[in-house]
Amino acid sequence: MSWPPIREELQGIEPYGAPQLDVPVCLNVNENPYPPSAAVIADVATAVAEATATLNRYPDREFTELRKGLADYLGHGVTADQIWAANGSNEVMLQILQAFGGPGRTAVSFAPTYSMYPEYARDAMTNWVAGRRHEDFSFDLDNARSLIAEHQPTVVLLPSPNNPTGTALPHAAISALCEAAPGVVVIDEAYGEFRRNGTPSALELLPAYRNLIVSRTMSKAFALAGARLGYLAAAPELCDALRVVRLPYHLSAVTQAVASAALRHADELLGKVDEIRAERDRTVDWLRARGFEVAESDANFVLFGRFPDRHAIWQGLLDRGVLIRETGPDGWLRVSIGTATEMVAFQDALLSVTAEVTR
Ligand SMILES: *Cc1c(COP(=O)(O)O)cnc(C)c1O
Repeated sequence: MSWPPIREELQGIEPYGAPQLDVPVCLNVNENPYPPSAAVIADVATAVAEATATLNRYPDREFTELRKGLADYLGHGVTADQIWAANGSNEVMLQILQAFGGPGRTAVSFAPTYSMYPEYARDAMTNWVAGRRHEDFSFDLDNARSLIAEHQPTVVLLPSPNNPTGTALPHAAISALCEAAPGVVVIDEAYGEFRRNGTPSALELLPAYRNLIVSRTMSKAFALAGARLGYLAAAPELCDALRVVRLPYHLSAVTQAVASAALRHADELLGKVDEIRAERDRTVDWLRARGFEVAESDANFVLFGRFPDRHAIWQGLLDRGVLIRETGPDGWLRVSIGTATEMVAFQDALLSVTAEVTR
């Protein structure tokens, strides 16, 4: 036997890793660039201190207070028994694959899509099939319908706004998916709070479809990536199914305390979202005015191109202290929206790089 005795399909695979480099301007993993204020830090610290006093005991397995807080935050009539949470929406989605996927079953998405989905599918021993989007990254409903009819997936996974393109799904597409899919349809709204005005949330459709799951996270708009808290809203029977596969006491008392305290400061933590949205729109305009192709974005990042050698552009930016992401279809690059100062640094670096490297 080869050593270590790792599963055959995992042999030679590199672990997920956007490079974590120490550079002045980090615009590569779609974080919120604004750290919490002193008032939020103090309140979270108090909540953690209170939780610390109970750390000899296992935490509330059902995270009752947090569930209630998340339901209140989402609104749309969502109740606590329609909420499920875990350590980042990455864990939530792995649990979805564990509960609703598995050997002999298929999960489907439409490329370009989130690069982690096929990894959850692999880890949950679920067959993975990727359909495609239109050339402009909008949703191709005909392709989706025929792929679903052919593969009968028990899980359909779709980010909206999409990562890495920024494209949001119209209600008509979500409804059609929910009607066509024999299993659950997960609309991953990790970037939901950054939607442009007039772009709807899938939460509005929850009452209409018992197979619809809307996933959210506190990692992006909420400026809480370091706390690891992701969650979803769905019919209570779907949440109950996830309780079967979660590890015992998967959400630590500290995590629950931090997330609940942060929710009490939702207004402040989300206070920079409008600024980030405006900065995003400015970035799109700036790139287009300089002749770059830019995908429509409802998120806190922008996919732009196209470059015959995107790696050279990425490396040139890094050499100038600006880290972005080499991801998405060939020729494109993704930049997260940072502060106004960081975006100026990005723009200066990009102009300097493209003057050297041919577009
Ligand atoms: C960032 C991101 C998430 C969030 O992951 P967490 O585990 O909650 O930090 C989920 N889905 C997509 C598409 C993302 O880009």
